[in-house]
Amino acid sequence: MLGQMMQMPLTIGSLIDHAARFHSAGQIVSVETMGGVEHSTWGQVGANARRLASALRKLGMEQGARCGTIAWNNRRHLEIYFGVAGGGFVCHTINPRMGPEQMVYVINHAEDQVLFIDQTFVPAAGKLAPALKHCKHIVMMGPRDEAAAEQVPNLMFFDELLETGDASEPWPEFDENSASSLCYTSGTTGDPKGVLYSHRSTVLHTLAGNQPDGLNISATDTVLPVVPMFHVNAWGVPYIAAMSGCKLVLPGPNLDGVSLVNLIDETETTLALGVPTIWMGLLAALEETGSKMPSLTRTVVGGSALPPSMIPKFAAYGVDLVHAWGMTETSPLGSVNQLLQRHMALSAEEQAEIRLGQGRAPYGVDLRILDEAGNVLPHDGEAQGDLQIRGPWIVETYFGKETTALTDDGWFDTGDVATIDGEGFMVIRDRSKDIIKSGGEWISTVTLENIAISHPAIANAAAIAALHTKWDERPVIVAIKSGEVSEEELLAFYKGKVESWQIPDRVIFVDALPIGATGKVQKNLLRDEFGKVLLEA
Ligand code: ADP
Repeated sequence: MLGQMMQMPLTIGSLIDHAARFHSAGQIVSVETMGGVEHSTWGQVGANARRLASALRKLGMEQGARCGTIAWNNRRHLEIYFGVAGGGFVCHTINPRMGPEQMVYVINHAEDQVLFIDQTFVPAAGKLAPALKHCKHIVMMGPRDEAAAEQVPNLMFFDELLETGDASEPWPEFDENSASSLCYTSGTTGDPKGVLYSHRSTVLHTLAGNQPDGLNISATDTVLPVVPMFHVNAWGVPYIAAMSGCKLVLPGPNLDGVSLVNLIDETETTLALGVPTIWMGLLAALEETGSKMPSLTRTVVGGSALPPSMIPKFAAYGVDLVHAWGMTETSPLGSVNQLLQRHMALSAEEQAEIRLGQGRAPYGVDLRILDEAGNVLPHDGEAQGDLQIRGPWIVETYFGKETTALTDDGWFDTGDVATIDGEGFMVIRDRSKDIIKSGGEWISTVTLENIAISHPAIANAAAIAALHTKWDERPVIVAIKSGEVSEEELLAFYKGKVESWQIPDRVIFVDALPIGATGKVQKNLLRDEFGKVLLEA
């Protein structure tokens, strides 16, 4: 017997309709690409999203047509997120930090027919345009700009395109399983792989991700997604913001610490989200500017492991750090670290210890760990294995591939190595391709990095596996100094913090670490450069 309730498709158009209807005056603050701050509202964003969908139809776009974006976090990008998906097209966010070859590859692979670009990317688009096989229209996100028009043949302008659309046209009706957006993994090895999200997966991710023990965003919040809109749906924040009706602050291109502190203070941001490298810059800027960020109550940190030293530093400003884990393939929220009732009685130090882990899966996500032989391991907080995930917002097949991305029994292998305890708290110990295998024993690079970063004279550090004649691999630290410290002193700093055989063999000081397109240290490049230092010794 079937239930007898209404069938309402879960669509992204319904999210923006909700925001425009019930939070119509809710503010959107947008730092513009060429400077200046623009103020808009959910009502205006909703109307422009509909206008855009109508304009794209008039351009001849059909349902499922891919529309690429190369853009910062700003108001027009938000309108594209909702207008493209709501109109039944697919919003393909492109990471501008990809090299030109990879960019051409993903645009052609996605068969993007329209490309929306911020003014920053006009010169790059001019160079790429001849190689783009399916692209019919390149649209600069702004008003008419004659200098830009000279650089890209037939360049269109977003504000003029919007004027051709009709905001009163309803969203088209389609199946909630229709594709809504597309994001490629950064592809450190091999070609980038596309993850094609659906309306249904996005709405479910929005509902589950914003539970009180998830991102916990409400209409009273002012939310600053520093995490880029070109990477994994900005962790789902634009959709969650529309559902909750919060005030949204879009930071534009300048993500340095001082710009962010000023923006947080001017907009009275209550919640900001981003990767640890961003927060390192922010902490340095707080010392420089003397701001105490009185409005900020919490930040969500993810993308790579949260360094332990960051928790007390933010606590001094009255800011809670919420650690979250996920990946492009998981929409991205796979776990969020919020405490349980019984943790409330613990000391701040004991709570900080728990909050270093990546947290628990929200309803809808299932996690398990396996050993190398494929046996499922117990959730006892000790057994460490390959982390696998399943759920309605987890990838099944990569875009354009025929074969499933899943195991025979329907799980997605994350490439991370983790432990899970009896209450479901998951801790990422490493990426399987980064972990150090010394004489048959594993050493976590995350643990070694966290110790180095907690040293007062170290600004940032990466641990890598270096080849070793006796032990196969041994740990080597590649670090940036922020003060005076010698190799011997840093190695001595490890004593008593890890087992003696886990203490790194060497420290190499560098001026900068290679940071990839998504703000993470590229350890594969460090292995290429320093992976043989112990053989040469
Ligand atoms: P890319 O491979 O392009 O960097 P993702 O952003 O999808 O793409 O990266 C996902 C990976 O980032 C995860 O598999 C994990 O290794 C790492 N990661 C994400 N969040 C965390 C976290 N909180 N702690 C440790 N690692 C994390």
